[in-house]
Amino acid sequence: MQQDSLLDHALVRLDEAAAHLDIDPDVIEKLKYARETTKVRLMIRMDDGSRKSFLAWRCRYDDTRGPTKGGIRFHAESTADEVETLAFWMTFKCAVMNLPYGGGKGAVQVDPRKLSKAELERLSRAYMQAFARIIGPDRDIPAPDVYTNSMIMGWMADEYAQIFGQAEPAVITGKPIALGGSLGRGDATARGGYYLVRHLADDLGLSKTMRVAMQGFGNAGQHIARLLAADGHKIVAVSDSEGAVISDAGLHIDLLMEAKENGQSVVSTAGQGGHETLAPDEVAGVDCDLLVPAALENMIHEDNAGSVKAKLVLELANGPVTAEADRILAANGTVILPDILANAGGVTVSYFEWVQNKQGFYWTIEDIHNRLRAIMEREGRAVWNVSREKGITMRTAAYVHALSRLAEAIEAHGTQSFFTS
Ligand code: NAD
Repeated sequence: MQQDSLLDHALVRLDEAAAHLDIDPDVIEKLKYARETTKVRLMIRMDDGSRKSFLAWRCRYDDTRGPTKGGIRFHAESTADEVETLAFWMTFKCAVMNLPYGGGKGAVQVDPRKLSKAELERLSRAYMQAFARIIGPDRDIPAPDVYTNSMIMGWMADEYAQIFGQAEPAVITGKPIALGGSLGRGDATARGGYYLVRHLADDLGLSKTMRVAMQGFGNAGQHIARLLAADGHKIVAVSDSEGAVISDAGLHIDLLMEAKENGQSVVSTAGQGGHETLAPDEVAGVDCDLLVPAALENMIHEDNAGSVKAKLVLELANGPVTAEADRILAANGTVILPDILANAGGVTVSYFEWVQNKQGFYWTIEDIHNRLRAIMEREGRAVWNVSREKGITMRTAAYVHALSRLAEAIEAHGTQSFFTS
């Protein structure tokens, strides 16, 4: 029997949302499939003179609301199914935030840690050469994702400029500041989640001094820890890929940051400042008010969801809670602020970068923070209201909110534009 794909699992959310709206079935049919997914084999020269090839994809899932937007992931286990699923999520994330974008995503099946810097640059340039005709500032706009960064975006922007004979900074976001990157992109994902929690704090009955447990201490995790700690909340447990630490009195963020800056695990801080080791699997069940998954997919699942004590989960990671875990948490009264809303600060500041590139006029950090806060509060409040009015979870409400915008745009285009009679 054929196993369900990742996309099949993701599409369950679409059906759940559709049940709460009166929508033309053609609209749902359109959103069940990626518009186009291109697969290529990138051939590059290795430093030792040999040649090696890597599978690569770019998916433009849906472009009804604007050019497709989504990161490029370099990962040894990437697949076409994963790329399409991430592109489906981007379609909904951009619609939740009312950004004028559709959803896209790309990947190269590679472990970038095994490449030299020069090999990585050749691979990044080869990606842009292969997809330059699909990508474009008004067509499809990539950004960094897992194991890609601003340096890689800089190489890709440069390759695009060489192919078309002129610089086009709006073709890619997450660039270095020197090439037209935006201020505030570094902590945008965490900051967006932080603004959302702060805005809904009274509605959710949150305490002014929450106990917080976190899975993952990378870009998203470190920034949210810093922002919450500065407001007087206590980070009591943190994990990374090598282990976890706990302190009932609160972990010292500076110690954790210093360890990561030196390339060490958070576990290396055990024994200092009251930090003690903890089994990483136990972080989900730590006694806390707020649980922040900021690592990988599916880290809260059927087997550990029952142990969660937090009354609020802020999904900074994409897809960290499985569908089974979702049901268990809902039954236990835990509220989840879902990924397509909670971590959308990243793509929102990417959108700001694109707007600044197109205008050639650059904003201050205060402008970025104020605009990000306004959008997170506006859309967070709208999703909250849908959730209250319809008596549904914040996740389903976020999908309903996004789907109604997508349906309006698809119907405005005319459904005959995508179905032949
Ligand atoms: P990152 O690579 O900087 O950090 C990932 C962290 O997860 C690292 O600390 C790593 O050690 C940890 N980790 C990996 N496996 C783990 C495990 N089994 N247990 C505990 N920790 C583990 O990545 P990031 O940019 O912080 O992204 C984290 C999540 O947030 C991903 O799901 C990503 O898709 C999502 N996200 C990030 C952004 C962004 O702008 N950075 C935007 C939207 C969504």
